[in-house]
Amino acid sequence: MVTGASRGIGRSIATRLAADGHRVVLVARTADPLEALKGEIEAAGGSAVVSTCDLADGSAVNELIESVVSDEGRLDILVNNAGITRDGLMLRMSDEDFDVVLNVNLRSIFIACRAAARPMMRGRFGRMINISSVTGLIGNPGQANYAAAKAGIIGMTKTIAKEFASKGVTANVVAPGFIRTEMTEALGAGVLEEAAKRIPLKRLGEGDDIAHAVSFLASEGAGYVTGQVLTVDGGMVC
Ligand code: NAP
Repeated sequence: MVTGASRGIGRSIATRLAADGHRVVLVARTADPLEALKGEIEAAGGSAVVSTCDLADGSAVNELIESVVSDEGRLDILVNNAGITRDGLMLRMSDEDFDVVLNVNLRSIFIACRAAARPMMRGRFGRMINISSVTGLIGNPGQANYAAAKAGIIGMTKTIAKEFASKGVTANVVAPGFIRTEMTEALGAGVLEEAAKRIPLKRLGEGDDIAHAVSFLASEGAGYVTGQVLTVDGGMVC
């Protein structure tokens, strides 16, 4: 299951996991782009189902995982990718903008991982992969809410890794740098060009750069890797 699968990084992850041979549950709020992606995956010989959910609603997240497990009979890989921004400098950031970002970017992941843990333990196999950000490691002016959520993902995932390791369930974080998606396009071409100059690998990342990392962490072969933060940022934080 991949959240935020309708565009950007989540779309690349879902496409990649389907190409790896997994049946993928595509999750976001809006059905049309998910249906279009399902069509593309099937045309390429893969398998996908669509499930709409607003991750801001905790009980909907619980119901989503329950329905995936009851419809599919199992849930092996959970990629918590969906995320939002409500940027603003600290002194001007409203309580509401803090809460909504924490709700969607952190609380929903807690609820999804908690709901997925039992079915994964029953199957003695699980891969929880949570998408954070370099902002969660180093902070960023104007993103106190986002940085708090993304740093929270890291501490929470390390805890999940320790709690479920003995049951064959791993939990890891991927922390992207600047990736070319609608989220970063909103920053404007000038900002992105300047950012690319400061990145040691001299380019912005693509969704596929993140998808490759997720594909590895989701694989059988990554069974001895847990509680890690894999930074995929062209060398920004090293
Ligand atoms: P994006 O292009 O804005 O896509 C966000 C995805 O999340 C969409 O599929 C969106 O679909 C879904 N979504 C948003 N709010 C949702 C909600 N309440 N419930 C369910 N789904 C929701 O974002 P992106 O750039 O691909 O980023 C993906 C993840 O990577 C995020 O967690 C982001 O913080 C992280 N990240 C991105 C970058 C970057 O440079 N792009 C860098 C570091 C980390 P709907 O609108 O239809 O719901």
